[in-house]
Amino acid sequence: MNLREKLEKHGDFLLGVELVSTRGTLTETRAARTLAFAEELAAHDRIDWVSFTDNAGGNPQLAPAALARIVRASGRDVVVHLSCKDFNRNALESEAWHLASEGLHNLLVLSGDYPGPGLAGAAKPVFDIDSVGLLSLLANLNAGLDVTRPGAHQSARLAATEFFPACVVTNFKLHENEVIPQLLKLEKKLQCGARWIINQIGYDSRKIHELILWLRSRGWGHVPLIGNVYVLNPAVARLFREKRIPGVVISDELAAICEAKSREPDRGRSWFLELAARQIAIYRGLGYRGAYLGGIHSRADLDAVLALADSFSSDAWRGFAREIRFSRPGEFFLYAEDASTGLANADRPNTSPSTRRPSRNVTYSYRFAKAVHAAMFTPGKGLWNFGKKVTASARDPMQGPRLLRAVEKIGKSAMFDCRDCGDCSLPETAFLCPESACAKNQRNGPCGGTRDGLCEVEDYECIWSRAYDRLAHEGRAEQLLEHAPVIQDQSLRGTSSWANTWQGRDHLTRKLSVPPAAAPVPVTGRGESTVPPSTPQTAPSSPESPPDTTQPS
Ligand code: SF4
Repeated sequence: MNLREKLEKHGDFLLGVELVSTRGTLTETRAARTLAFAEELAAHDRIDWVSFTDNAGGNPQLAPAALARIVRASGRDVVVHLSCKDFNRNALESEAWHLASEGLHNLLVLSGDYPGPGLAGAAKPVFDIDSVGLLSLLANLNAGLDVTRPGAHQSARLAATEFFPACVVTNFKLHENEVIPQLLKLEKKLQCGARWIINQIGYDSRKIHELILWLRSRGWGHVPLIGNVYVLNPAVARLFREKRIPGVVISDELAAICEAKSREPDRGRSWFLELAARQIAIYRGLGYRGAYLGGIHSRADLDAVLALADSFSSDAWRGFAREIRFSRPGEFFLYAEDASTGLANADRPNTSPSTRRPSRNVTYSYRFAKAVHAAMFTPGKGLWNFGKKVTASARDPMQGPRLLRAVEKIGKSAMFDCRDCGDCSLPETAFLCPESACAKNQRNGPCGGTRDGLCEVEDYECIWSRAYDRLAHEGRAEQLLEHAPVIQDQSLRGTSSWANTWQGRDHLTRKLSVPPAAAPVPVTGRGESTVPPSTPQTAPSSPESPPDTTQPS
């Protein structure tokens, strides 16, 4: 049975291990060591798959396929991480064909960490598409890519691929305007073809419980959900504490315990291994389909964790779940706490008041932009017919009349710091420009890297948190990602986005199609969502092993 069959057809609790690729060829000592460990893991009778990271932490490393194909050749299941930080859509498509040709069908799809330093300085980030866009691309490849030439009489398709893509989610976030956008983005990923899910590293059982409850409430309870178990050590705990790994946080309380344990004779090793074993027990007890182990560097540590996990009684996880609840003061929860278990109460939304004032993002300029947009771009109303007519008859229909183009450029530049991409997403991002205000140009929801609401890359509030606040204030937070999936058309750059909308050339009219095979599984209860009302209605081989953050997005 392969990994896909195990996940989709059988109920066993599975185990995967993540290995971070290294810099240099396979002849380098570290790479050879990583490969040897990968082969050891693949031969381990308890391990169901080995995952290989893709330029983890934004660092240049050996492509994961180089390691994965060798392990795959021994007949074992591998998962290759594929992220959007270093490849544009064509390079991703080409890499997808490469992976399919090597028999590497299991992918973990990510937007990716922001690129770090390479030769002669920092690399230029790509982020041509994001994880939702990449999943949509894979869904198209899985359906047999339509390569019919314009004007051809017969349609042409490439042979269908067999990708089995996973996605990542994190709900270990501080604020409501981070948690709910993450969940809505997860739903988009599932609708665009993700077949299984791994959560981000986190140490709060109540949040772990919330995730599975939320998926069930939205009708996605059948999608295999794997729990992330990162085996800490003192150095990595400090890295997490300093928020140097995007999307991964450690509370003050857990950080203090890690520090104290690091002063013990074994530097806390036995405690860290026991913590990992307890997390495995919790995931199993809560109904997750498996555990995804990171931070493991030796067979001895792996066997120690598994032996401990096996030694627990079937009910012990309940006590562990009560103990491992390292949330932060003021943290947002979807569901009220169940006093008897310390976990989430599926029947009661959390009604504790927010510690933030989200309405500060609902500015007058936002209201003005919304009103102007409605007047200009509501089909058949207001200025719609005028705009259509004058742009069609302009000397250059891609630019429209010169005066109108000047008004567009000056107005949008002043209000939104517009970068003239020509394929405008402003109406879908609550009038916040993803080109200028999002370091990764994310058009289908937030990446996973926010740090207490701030962008992973710079110290400004994430545009998706701000967009959520704006929609939530209007009682329509659930519409945040209704527009997705969007893949920006680069051929429109430098042309008039107004003309492109009026003439039906941009993504607003030419919606990206996701083939039916990957279309949403019927969701029960949509429209009666149990997502509680939004507030206004009222993850370096560490210093001992640097983690790949399983960077969600
Ligand atoms: S603005 Fe938000 S989505 Fe964009 S890179 Fe920063 S954290 Fe990620």
